Formats: sequence, structure tokens, C-alpha cells
Amino acid sequence: MTRKIALAIPDLRGNEEKYVADAVRSSWISSSGVYVDRFEQEFAAFTGSGHVVGVCNGTVALHLALLALDVRPGDEVLVPSMTYIATANAVRYVGAEPVFVDVDPETWCLSPSQLEKSITRRTRGIIAVDLYGHPADMDAINHIAAVNGLWVVEDAAEAHSATYKGRPAGGLAKIGTFSFYGNKILSCGEGGAVVVNDPYLYLRLKTLRGQGMDPERRYYFPVTGYNFRLTNVACALLCAQLERREEILSCRREVFRLYREQLQEIGGLGFQPIADWAVPAPWMFCLTVDPAGFGHTRDELMRHLAENGVETRPFFIPLHTLPPFRQESARRGELLPVTDRLGTTGFNLPTHSQLTADDIGYICRLIKNFSPNQSR
Ligand SMILES: *Cc1c(COP(=O)(O)O)cnc(C)c1O
Repeated sequence: MTRKIALAIPDLRGNEEKYVADAVRSSWISSSGVYVDRFEQEFAAFTGSGHVVGVCNGTVALHLALLALDVRPGDEVLVPSMTYIATANAVRYVGAEPVFVDVDPETWCLSPSQLEKSITRRTRGIIAVDLYGHPADMDAINHIAAVNGLWVVEDAAEAHSATYKGRPAGGLAKIGTFSFYGNKILSCGEGGAVVVNDPYLYLRLKTLRGQGMDPERRYYFPVTGYNFRLTNVACALLCAQLERREEILSCRREVFRLYREQLQEIGGLGFQPIADWAVPAPWMFCLTVDPAGFGHTRDELMRHLAENGVETRPFFIPLHTLPPFRQESARRGELLPVTDRLGTTGFNLPTHSQLTADDIGYICRLIKNFSPNQSR
């Protein structure tokens, strides 16, 4: 018997189908409608921010944030290299250059102590990423930004529900961005959001999202904008997801608890560190493999799990080593040892709300029995 255990599955067991059918029957399937308004209001409360602008995905959320901040060709934006490629791609979309900064070994997020060294005359801002659900040290990052006259965007795509010193992730910088892709904690398949408090930036974000149309004067376009809107059908899904967020989160927290409990004694494995000011979001369970202690490399363990029907995913390949970015990164002489180490040793285990305790026991036994160093 080989089981098949997927890495991620969206949880659509509540009112998702009902609300989508309702949106279809109402004929409001484009980007206006009751679900759009309801989602934007409820998500503002969820992230503790003044305003939410729904957009068609999380990459577009970052792009829109940078457009609203007037980032231009020649500008530099400090970003982590240990993140999904969208964070750096968005910087390129506005003609600017992502400059890569190492992460802190205690959070795996942007290292405040490394940031300052990378600031140049061209630096305009920082995109901090709440990696694998753990919030970045936003007070320290915001402080460095303020001292140097920079803005901060918080990419909270992976951190729905995380908190930093009791405050919701995503609402901790000048602008926050989210993704609702199929593998994110709350999902509508493809979707995203920008969250903001500043009323001027809110107006700019809304204008740029909707082809640059003047909010006070229909069909008059004072600026070049984009069509980055989110549909009422997608928002119907998101409203149903938000209704059941506690249920979805508590299932995922239980998955995290069981993994930690059953893997903690195995030599050579490491968990995601948790800062004492953080409550991370239970996005994807992270494991690092020290080959000396475990007896096999990360890739050998992933292959073994795949052969036994368990889907896993390696950590992000550090962006400064990828073809679109590596030449510029090398020219700047960037050294990112913590990022490089995580990139070769880390991977994610299946994490979703439909995993059973039995599935998790199966996965943990496979891992344990694979290590030649364990006493059985
Ligand atoms: C998922 C993700 C994004 C992009 O979201 P999409 O909705 O897939 O465009 C951006 N940043 C991070 C850190 C992500 O994990």
C-alpha cells in the first residue's frame, strides 16, 4: 500500500460553494459586488489595518505597492534572498533593482543588523518577508528605515494570522501585501490584497488598481493605471474562508504540534526558530537536515519520502543565485551565508487541514526509520 499525501490542499468545506453559487446567480461575477466590499472590510479587521485593496494575486499586490510608492528605474530595494521569487520580480517590474540581504538565523527573516550595510544613495525602501509564516522583526526594520528615510513593505503572503508583539502580521509596515494562492492558509485560488493605513496611499492604490480612473469622476483617467482587480466570485470564496479561519487555523496548528512532538527526538533535524515576540502562522511545516547528524542529506530524505508517496518541497532556492539576479548580486559582492545554508538544508512537509494524525504518524515514522543514526 502506498499512500499519496499532498503537500497542500485548500480547505473549502464551509460556505465556499454556496457563496460562489450565490455570486454566479446574482450575475455579479466581475470586480464589483457585495462579496468584494465584505471581503475588503473583514480583511481590514483581520489585519488591524485601515484599508484593504483586493487584487488578482500576491505578486500584483507587491507590484501595486511599489507603484503606489513611486519606485522608479535606478532605485534599489532591499529584499531577502530567502523568499519566493515574486518579492524580487516585483522590484524589477518597476525598473528598480533588488539588493539581497541575509536573514537572521533566529527568525529566518531579514536581518536588521545586516540591512544597514546594504543601504546606498540609491536605496528607497525595504521589502520585509514574513518567511514561512514567521513575522520579520518589524520594529527594528521600521526603525532602520525611519532613520534612513526609507519606506517598508511587509510581504505577509505566507503569514495570515501571525502576530508580532501581539499585532497582526501584514499590518506592521507602511504597506502590507498578501496572497491567496491555492497553497496559502486562506485561499481563493488566485488572489491577493494590499493593506494600508495612510489615506493618500489608499487612494493611489485604488486608482492604480482600476486603470487609473479618478475615484470621483467615472471614465476620467488622470494617470496610467492597471487592471489588477479581484473578482466578486473570488471574494465569495474569501468571505467563506474568513468565516472559518479559526477552524482552518486550529487544524493546521494541530498538524504543527504533532510534527514537533514526533520529530523532536530525531538527531540531525532542526525546526523553524520562533522568536519570543512572535506567534507564527501555521503555513508550511519546516524542517532542516544536518547530514552529519541525520545520516542522509535533505535531498536524500525528500527522495525517500517521495518514493513513499509523501510530497515535500525544498526551501526557496536563494534568489541571488538564480539567473535573473546572480550577475548583479555577484557584482555587488553579496555574501549570504545563512540564506545559502537554509537553501540547501531546508524543506517543507505536507501541511493542510485535511491531514490526519495517522498521516502524520506515517510521515514521521518514514523519517525516523530512514536515519541510520536512530536507535529504534
Ligand atoms: C505566494 C507568495 C507571493 C506571491 O503570491 P501569488 O499570489 O502566487 O502571486 C509573494 N510572496 C511570497 C513570500 C509568497 O509566498
